[in-house]
Amino acid sequence: MISIKNLNKYYGDTQVLKNISIDIKKGEIFAIVGHSGAGKSTLMRCINGLEDYSDGSLQVNGKEIKELGKEELRAFRKNIGMIFQHFSLIQRKTVFENVALPMQLWGYTKAEITKKVKELLALVGLDEKLDSYPNELSGGQKQRVAIARALTLDPDVLLSDEATSALDPNTTTSILNLLKEINDKLNITIVLVTHEMEVVKQIAQRALLLEHGNIIGFDD
Ligand code: ADP
Ligand code: ADP
Repeated sequence: MISIKNLNKYYGDTQVLKNISIDIKKGEIFAIVGHSGAGKSTLMRCINGLEDYSDGSLQVNGKEIKELGKEELRAFRKNIGMIFQHFSLIQRKTVFENVALPMQLWGYTKAEITKKVKELLALVGLDEKLDSYPNELSGGQKQRVAIARALTLDPDVLLSDEATSALDPNTTTSILNLLKEINDKLNITIVLVTHEMEVVKQIAQRALLLEHGNIIGFDD
């Protein structure tokens, strides 16, 4: 479903991704592991269509990302949910409003939004927190809200960029279990970027080790 071949990426004269080739299959949990500066986020942003790549091929569902027009790219990005280390919630909006936001931007009706948001907040175990504000939640709960928000547009792929890096080990495990449940129930492909080997062991089916923009290892 995500097919990367001989991908290269330069920032000026510096090559940050070197001849990357990976095939990520539909429904799998795939990890990209490496130290800070290895090129993980850059690779993630390429997959998400946020960053141009210098040469090589990057196809998602058979479509070459850099050949997409502006509207096609917008529609493509609808199909990819993202979660981040620092949750990226809007502080002055409630849990419900945060999760509803992507659906509002895409013009869904109020009834559709209410149904979907409640369903997703039940899935992540936060149906009692609809009217809370982010600062009233624990780190794990904030990430659960962000996960619900990332799923509102029914994506095929969930990209997780260091989503558990700000959480303690127990909360990390509970979030990883939730991601596994989502992968299983909704058949969503999960690509996660992390510098923590423990996270990879707990959740990933396959992992790729990145160093200075090179693939230096592959764990099938
Ligand atoms: P990671 O996510 O593994 O920490 P990044 O993908 O953020 O790594 O960065 C890979 C390399 O690219 C680093 O050397 C970083 O300094 C460099 N880099 C990242 N973004 C930019 C940018 N916008 N301009 C120039 N260099 C960048
Ligand atoms: P933290 O440890 O930071 O409080 P957690 O992610 O462990 O956050 O849990 C957040 C909330 O979700 C808690 O109120 C917890 O009771 C609830 N919860 C945890 N796991 C589940 C689950 N699988 N299903 C439903 N609710 C859950």
